[in-house]
Amino acid sequence: MTLNHAVTYELIKKDARTGARRGRVHTPHGTIETPVFMPVGTQGTVKAMKPEDISEMGAGIILANTYHLYLRPGHELVREAGGLHKFMNWNGAILTDSGGFQVFSLGKLRKITEEGVKFQSHIDGSPHMITPEKSIEIQNALGSDIIMAFDECTPYPADREYAKKSLERTTRWLKRCKEYHKNIENQSLFGIMQGGMYKDLRKLSAEQIVELDLPGYAIGGLSVGEPKEIMIDVLSDCVDYLPADKARYLMGVGSPDYIFEGVERGVDMFDCVLPTRIGRHGLAMTSQGRVNIKNQQYEKDWSPLDPECDCYTCRNYSKAYLRHLFKAGEMLSSTLMSTHNLHFLIKMMEQIRTSIEEDRFLEYKKEFYEKYGRF
Ligand SMILES: [Zn+2]
Repeated sequence: MTLNHAVTYELIKKDARTGARRGRVHTPHGTIETPVFMPVGTQGTVKAMKPEDISEMGAGIILANTYHLYLRPGHELVREAGGLHKFMNWNGAILTDSGGFQVFSLGKLRKITEEGVKFQSHIDGSPHMITPEKSIEIQNALGSDIIMAFDECTPYPADREYAKKSLERTTRWLKRCKEYHKNIENQSLFGIMQGGMYKDLRKLSAEQIVELDLPGYAIGGLSVGEPKEIMIDVLSDCVDYLPADKARYLMGVGSPDYIFEGVERGVDMFDCVLPTRIGRHGLAMTSQGRVNIKNQQYEKDWSPLDPECDCYTCRNYSKAYLRHLFKAGEMLSSTLMSTHNLHFLIKMMEQIRTSIEEDRFLEYKKEFYEKYGRF
């Protein structure tokens, strides 16, 4: 019997010369045009942004964070509120990560066993344990459309033996996640590929997770400190190991140049805190490259942040005003800068999708790099 997965992938068109592909991810909260960039709303909010503003920009899916929402306000509270969509007033799709990446990042505050990960809360030091089952229980309570398997993110550098052990544990944990996840008609579980920078281990990991026939697959453990050339090289092979009829998600990678490289190789979904984080620090991604609004040169610059942008910020405010807001520590600074940066990436993705439809992805990539630069 075929199961009715909540989330399905539809391939519309493949680029003639690269692995880039134009598709759709169907979810219980709407259809997402891919390749897509997903804004990150760690604590159930995309920082400094109202949900309706995100939606108006054309974002159909955001990412929220299991670790943070479990610790505060607690997943049972969110369940009681009617789920995360209702709690945060977001009618689009939501993807939650599993909490794995956050607990592994706690360093000394955590201990990994076969059972799961014991850790101390970064908020009050209280002891907790997340197991694969617990991660799914939390994500079931949050009610996100796409839920991620609890995995062990292999750090960089890692020796081969460690990377192999780690990917095998990730597979065992994935089986436990799949076993525990019963709400398959409303929420879809994505598996995560690991294997460090070892291509044969990436292949092994892919074979093991694909065998479980999940609605989508993610590539984890990339962009964790390795040089860009290595990352791109490993990524090229990773995509080939994943089935063409399922969505492919490259986790935590969202700077413009990495998005282009990922799309070129056949990745459909990206997320990154970059646009909002750098926005709060006074940095803008523009068609002319990065703009640091703190610079003296903008003190009396009455032009918009990006002359080619039609976002709310660029239609209404000058660089001089944005610089003033930032210098004065005004809250509106974060909102206006984040608005522009999110708009920039969302529009860039729209153009990427059109370029794939018209078989000119490589030309668009070249044109973008020439104007924007690479970093
Ligand atoms: Zn703008």
